[in-house]
Amino acid sequence: MIDFTDNIKRFLKRHHHPKVTPVAALIDMDGVLYDSMKLHTQAWKRVADELGIEATRDEFYLYEGMTGSATLDLLFMRQFGRHITPDEAERFYAMKSEYFSNFPEVETMPGAQSLIKTMIDMSMKRVLVTGSGQMSLISRLQRDFPGGFDEKMMITSKSVKHGKPHPEPYLKAMQLAGASPRKCVAIDNAPLGVKSADSAGVFSIGVTTGPIPKEELFNAGAAVVFDSMEQLSENFPQLMLALFNTSTD
Ligand code: CA
Repeated sequence: MIDFTDNIKRFLKRHHHPKVTPVAALIDMDGVLYDSMKLHTQAWKRVADELGIEATRDEFYLYEGMTGSATLDLLFMRQFGRHITPDEAERFYAMKSEYFSNFPEVETMPGAQSLIKTMIDMSMKRVLVTGSGQMSLISRLQRDFPGGFDEKMMITSKSVKHGKPHPEPYLKAMQLAGASPRKCVAIDNAPLGVKSADSAGVFSIGVTTGPIPKEELFNAGAAVVFDSMEQLSENFPQLMLALFNTSTD
């Protein structure tokens, strides 16, 4: 049994919340529900190569959570010293999306389906919070997570002006859930995603499903960090119980 009390107390003090009693889970997609980051980084690297932009494949893990146009703008500023135009951003993101959808079908992350089922059984609301606009994946959610995600309960790259690490995606997700930060938990695997959730005042559960070390997620504001979605799934009911039973006093 993992004792979550110290982590929870640290979070409550930092955010001046007396207690967190979750009724809703705000859930990232890539690297959480789907084992898709390897293919995303591969697609990004291919786009960068074709545009004559020097980049390493691994650097795209650091941009995970940002919208496609924000990622492209960052690359353009670095390589060409100018912002990307909206037209270019649309064109090159479409290129990246196409490469991604032509790869072999992405698998769900081990542990993700059981976690979503547990949430359904616990009657927790579920909101998707992704920086992605990859419809080939978003449209599979209903099939891969039956009853897990209502199409009205999704924040994607199209729903926000500012993507992660800005708090807007998680703030909008809480509006959809009709719940305050003290009634939510967030699940994200990327430092920028964790930062977005923590900035919105949400108890952030980090999961290391890629090459990013645990420490980076704690530094970004994660209240707890798990080594895998399987480990999170196994411990989720106990973590929720610990939240209900822990206050600042
Ligand atoms: Ca992610």
